[in-house]
Amino acid sequence: MANLKIQRPKGTQDVVPSQMYKWNTVESIVKEAATNYGFREIRIPTFEETSLFVRSVGDTTDVVQKEMYSVTATGDSQFTLRPEGTAGTIRALIENGLLNEGFPQKVFYVLSCFRHEKPQAGRLREFHQFGCEMVGTKDPRADAEVIALAKSIIDSAGLKGIKLYINSIGCPECRAKYHAALKEYFRSKEDELCDTCKDRLERNPMRILDCKSPICSEIAKDAPIVLDYLCDECREHFEGLQKYLTAMGIEYEINSRIVRGLDYYTKTVFEFVTTDIGAQGTVCGGGRYDGLIETLSGKECPALGFGMGLERLILTMENQGIEFAKEDSCDVYFAPMGEAAAIKAMQLTEQLRADGVSAQCDVVGRGLKAQMKYADKIGTKFTVVIGDSELESGKANIKDMNSGEQVEAPLDEGFSKVFNALLISRMLADDDIDESIFDLNQ
Ligand code: ATP
Ligand code: MG
Repeated sequence: MANLKIQRPKGTQDVVPSQMYKWNTVESIVKEAATNYGFREIRIPTFEETSLFVRSVGDTTDVVQKEMYSVTATGDSQFTLRPEGTAGTIRALIENGLLNEGFPQKVFYVLSCFRHEKPQAGRLREFHQFGCEMVGTKDPRADAEVIALAKSIIDSAGLKGIKLYINSIGCPECRAKYHAALKEYFRSKEDELCDTCKDRLERNPMRILDCKSPICSEIAKDAPIVLDYLCDECREHFEGLQKYLTAMGIEYEINSRIVRGLDYYTKTVFEFVTTDIGAQGTVCGGGRYDGLIETLSGKECPALGFGMGLERLILTMENQGIEFAKEDSCDVYFAPMGEAAAIKAMQLTEQLRADGVSAQCDVVGRGLKAQMKYADKIGTKFTVVIGDSELESGKANIKDMNSGEQVEAPLDEGFSKVFNALLISRMLADDDIDESIFDLNQ
C-alpha cells in the first residue's frame, strides 16, 4: 500500500504537549480576569444554522461572503462552523431564557473559530478566541468595563506597547447620513477601488474603510469621518465612554478608521493593536451591538462585547520575550527491577496519586539505566529504585534529584507519609519567602 502522508489542513495548528503550557497560561489569565469582572463562562455548539451568521454578522461582510465553512447535512439544513462567538452566544442566551433573568447578563467563552482566509502569521483557518458579551445595558459604563477587562488581560499577560483605539460608528440614524456622505466621496474614486470595494460602494460603503488593499486604504484616508455625523445621543454616549476610561486610567486614542469587520456593531467600536507581530496586529476587537438581539429575537436589548485572538496574544507574548508559567513536572518516578518490584512500584504509584501526588512508574520494562535516563528527561523531583534488596528489607530510598540527598521510607502505607513530608519541605526550600511580610510589628 502506498505510504499516505496525511498532513493537517492548511491554516490549522497542532499544539504539542511541550507547548501546551503557553495555552494553559493564557487560558488561565483570561478566565481569572473574566471572573474578576463578574463574567460567567458559557459553552456553545461549534456549528450553528448558517442563517444565524448571515443575519447577525451580515451578508455584505467578508466573513459571510467568502470566509464561512458551510455544510449541508443529510436532510436539508445548512450549517456553518462558527466564524466568531457572538452570534452563537446571543442565540444561546435568548434560547435559554437568560434575557429574562435580570440585567446585566455577563458571559465569557474560550472557543475555536473557523474562517476560510489566506493563512499567514497570526491569521489561521481555525483560530481561538476569548470573548465576552454583556447584555442589557446601554450605559457607557458598560463599554468602559468591557474595555477594562480586555486591558486587564493584556496587562496580566505582561504585554507592553499595545494601543487601544476607540471610535463610535453611531446608530442606524447617524449611519444613514454617514453612508450617503461616504458613497458620494468614494463614487468620485470608484475606478481606483478594488473589485470588492466597488461592490461594497452601494451595499455597505463603510466596509471600504476596513479594506486591506493598499490603494483602497490610501483613498480611505481622506474619506469623511463618522464622528462628524453622530446624533446627540451617540455623541453623548461616546463622550461618556471617554470620561469613564480616563477615570479608570485607561489610555486610548480616537481612531475614526476603526469600523470593525462585522455588520452588527453600533456606537462604540474598539481595537487593541500591537506592532510586534507584523501585519495581523489586532489582538482584540469589539464593540456595541444594540440592534443584534432585536434582529434575532424581535426584542429590543442593547449589548456589547469583544473577541480576543489567542494565537495573536501568544505570538505577541513570544515576540516580547514574556515568560509563560511553567507547568509542574513529575513529583516522583519509580524505577522497579523485576516482576515483584514492578507490582510493589505500581501499588505505591497508585497510592501516591490518590493522595494528589504526580507519580509515575516504568511501564515499558526497561533496564535501570534507561529508566533513570527517562526519569531525568521528564524532570522528576524524586526517584525511588526498587530491587530485590529493597523488597527484602521492606524499605527503599527516595532520592532528591536536585540535591542527591536520600531519605529512607517503608514500602507500605507509610510511604506516602514520608514522601509528602519530603515534598513539602522541598517546596518550602524552593520558595523564596520574604519572612518579614509575616512580621506584623514592622
Ligand atoms: P482582522 O481585521 O485581523 O481580519 P477581524 O476584524 O476579522 O480581524 P474579529 O472578527 O473582530 O476580527 O475577531 C476578533 C479577533 O479574533 C481579532 O482581533 C483577532 O485577534 C482574531 N482573529 C480574527 N480572525 C483571525 C484569524 N483568521 N486568525 C487568527 N486570529 C483571528
Ligand atoms: Mg478578518
